[in-house]
Amino acid sequence: MQLSTRNKLFLSHFLAVILVSGSIGSYFYASAIGNLKHSLQSRLMNSAAILSEVFSANELTGLNTSADTQKPQYQALLGRIRRLAATNPDIAFVYVMRKVGDQVVFVLDSDPQPALPGEVYKQNIPELLQGFNRPSVDSDITTDKWGSFLSGYAPLHDANGDYLIGIDMYANEVSHKMYQLKQAGFISLIVSLFLAIVFSGALARNFNQRIDRLVRRCGEIARTQLEPSNSRRTGDELDHLAQTIEAMAEHLERSHEQNEQARKALERHKDELEQRVQQRTGELLEANDQLREEIRERERIEAVLQQTARTDYLTQLPNRRAMIQILDKEAARFERAGHPFSLVLLDIDHFKSINDSFGHDGGDEILVKVAASMRGWMREQDVLARWGGEEFLILLSDTDVERATEQAERLRTAIEAQAFTIGQGETRITASLGVAGYTSNQGIDSCIKDADIALYRAKSGGRNCVVTYREP
Ligand code: GH3
Ligand code: MG
Ligand code: MG
Repeated sequence: MQLSTRNKLFLSHFLAVILVSGSIGSYFYASAIGNLKHSLQSRLMNSAAILSEVFSANELTGLNTSADTQKPQYQALLGRIRRLAATNPDIAFVYVMRKVGDQVVFVLDSDPQPALPGEVYKQNIPELLQGFNRPSVDSDITTDKWGSFLSGYAPLHDANGDYLIGIDMYANEVSHKMYQLKQAGFISLIVSLFLAIVFSGALARNFNQRIDRLVRRCGEIARTQLEPSNSRRTGDELDHLAQTIEAMAEHLERSHEQNEQARKALERHKDELEQRVQQRTGELLEANDQLREEIRERERIEAVLQQTARTDYLTQLPNRRAMIQILDKEAARFERAGHPFSLVLLDIDHFKSINDSFGHDGGDEILVKVAASMRGWMREQDVLARWGGEEFLILLSDTDVERATEQAERLRTAIEAQAFTIGQGETRITASLGVAGYTSNQGIDSCIKDADIALYRAKSGGRNCVVTYREP
């Protein structure tokens, strides 16, 4: 037969409680019975001992046969003994006995139908015989022709072992007291049985509830419920718990494996991602470098283009456009800070004939060499530009018109003195120069025009000379 854990627990608790309470109950019951009997016996013995003082052996002499009942002495003693018996309802009879040889005979008896003096008491009771010498009591209920009794005995104080006084207590009185005790014992047994059932039931239920809770929680973790209908469920609740824990362990193991796999996959993805990021970063850096290189190249080209746009292709001097920008800035500087500057317009004399003599290429060569020489003769801060054809424009910074005229003159003489080699040949040239000083708010065009007028005058004046523009 398959017992559920709850029933097993109930039974084991019940048996344990019953065993313990039964042992304790039996012990107390036995000791209560013993105590009751012992207390009855001591009461009987003590009562007998007390009563032994009431009679003396002397007043009992002469009461030997039934005929002596007529004696007033007997009647008086009988009355006394009956009064003594009536004092305690527990007492059935009080009597006095005498030992005659081996026999025990009655002397007095409180019974309404008393045993008469000299009547032999035939029953051999060892405790009764002891009662002639010292107080004693029946160890058990004894039965004689008067009924069943428990009796206490004590020797009369002055009898020298010849007389005793005896007290009988009805056995049913003793039994009634015993019965009451048994009844109390039975009630306590029923109560303890009831308590054992309640206590064991509660304990088993409580324990089972916890197991059920554990099973439910484990089941939830295992994501499987082992219901009674479930074929996996066999055995009692503890088996069920064990099965659920096993299922939970399996589930946890599976979850652990899945987690491990997921973690590995994640790590792989992370590595791949890192590699791709690294690769991409490398590519981006490379692209960035390329871009920077391209930007640099473009800036370089732009600078070259700008330079080219501002430079005369033949002489490598600033061209007309560049010179106009430079002059605009210089004019602005003048207006702002009052720094004076002057312009010198220089035209090579009879250049057509140079071309005629050395060819156009020879003319170019002369132009290049003249430009280089002039640059060498001039100060660092001055600007020399090719103005067009064989014409050059010179900006003399921080120079008033007088000093500009002097410098123009020095330039003219240097050109005149210089011999230029062209191919196998050699030639000398001269130049005419017009000088103009910049005046406030004049504007660059106007100043150039002044220089041009001065140059025209130099040409008209015979060439190879310097003419300074003067305000009319
Ligand atoms: P003038 O003394 O009056 O200035 O006489 P010129 O011959 O120098 O003056 P003109 O203006 O009549 O002639 C200038 C010549 O300069 C004409 C042209 O062929 C020549 N020329 C202008 N630019 C260049 C150039 O870039 N290279 C060469 N080889 N010759 C040029
Ligand atoms: Mg010219
Ligand atoms: Mg000329």
